[in-house]
Amino acid sequence: MLQAASQILFSILAGSQSLKTIASRYGMRARGGFARRFIAGETVEEAIDAARQIEANGLHVTLDYLGESVASIAEADAATRAYIAVIETIAASGLERNLSLKLTQLGLTIDRATCVDNLRRVLDAGAAKGFFVRIDMENSPYTAVTLDVFETMWQQGYRNAGVVLQSYLPRSEEDASRMNALGARVRLVKGAYHEPRDAAYQAKADVDASFVRIMRILLVGGTYPAIATHDPAMIEATRAFAAERGIAAANYEFQMLYGIRRDLQNGLKREGFQVRVYVPFGREWFPYFMRRLGERPANIGFVIRGVLGER
Ligand SMILES: Cc1cc2nc3c(=O)[nH]c(=O)nc-3n(C[C@H](O)[C@H](O)[C@H](O)COP(=O)(O)OP(=O)(O)OC[C@H]3O[C@@H](n4cnc5c(N)ncnc54)[C@H](O)[C@@H]3O)c2cc1C
Repeated sequence: MLQAASQILFSILAGSQSLKTIASRYGMRARGGFARRFIAGETVEEAIDAARQIEANGLHVTLDYLGESVASIAEADAATRAYIAVIETIAASGLERNLSLKLTQLGLTIDRATCVDNLRRVLDAGAAKGFFVRIDMENSPYTAVTLDVFETMWQQGYRNAGVVLQSYLPRSEEDASRMNALGARVRLVKGAYHEPRDAAYQAKADVDASFVRIMRILLVGGTYPAIATHDPAMIEATRAFAAERGIAAANYEFQMLYGIRRDLQNGLKREGFQVRVYVPFGREWFPYFMRRLGERPANIGFVIRGVLGER
């Protein structure tokens, strides 16, 4: 209930231009910028530095050049070019070649065909350098079309891409079976957007129960699924199920977000599990950052401390 209210509030605030201006001023300051807790930097070089430290601890990474809901074909083209440049820079850095992106960043809100063309450009550039590209899942108006675009690319032979399913959507159980049948790699998350009652489970108990059901579908019939959560109960359920079915830790991975539950990330790694950290970077960090605040209202405390400390 509190979380739902907080998600609504923060999704409204995420649309505020004046708040964005203030946040941009203080959030990513070199010292003490409050957004640095969740965002690795505004440049790819900063993200690479952060990712190197994560890899040095034996964890894996996926880098996300932040951006979403671009408003014109020109912006979608610019984002696509920027992604291709990021591919080149990461390849030259020697980091693991794994990226995440959003289709509305490549123009899905404007025109599906443009978005497909842009995605193809990114996947081609990525394939040439051996990258895996995860297509993040956005809010429910985009669920069907995102999976559809993904399947189109799959049918055209692109195998270096994967998708995300959200356990707060009742439809995701069927989608998981559909993706398993394709042989596609799925990342399972609870879901980060405020969704209406007719689209998504509202109670945490329902979202969690669905997460466990889908986790089982993916672990039994999926292709190297990623179980992306910081919730100890979901992690324990995954470990217990894998142990019961004799599924080796090499056949799936856990994923967590940059700056959240590092203790858990390192603990799982020490126990022999594979852990991948999602490393977001770029100047368009505000909506991502606001979703992280909305998930956990307690986070607002460190923002206020950060802003007061900067003045
Ligand atoms: C690698 C990765 C990729 C993701 N990709 C997507 C995507 O494509 N689409 C999408 O809709 N969602 C995505 N998400 C976000 C996801 O949907 C959830 O919103 C987010 O992970 C919080 O849910 P949880 O499973 O950690 O469980 P929760 O029950 O929300 O949280 C469990 C515990 O985790 C910690 N925690 C969780 N969130 C925060 C936070 N913001 N700040 C501090 N502590 C926190 C707290 O200790 C909390 O008690 C992704 C998450 C991860 C880890």
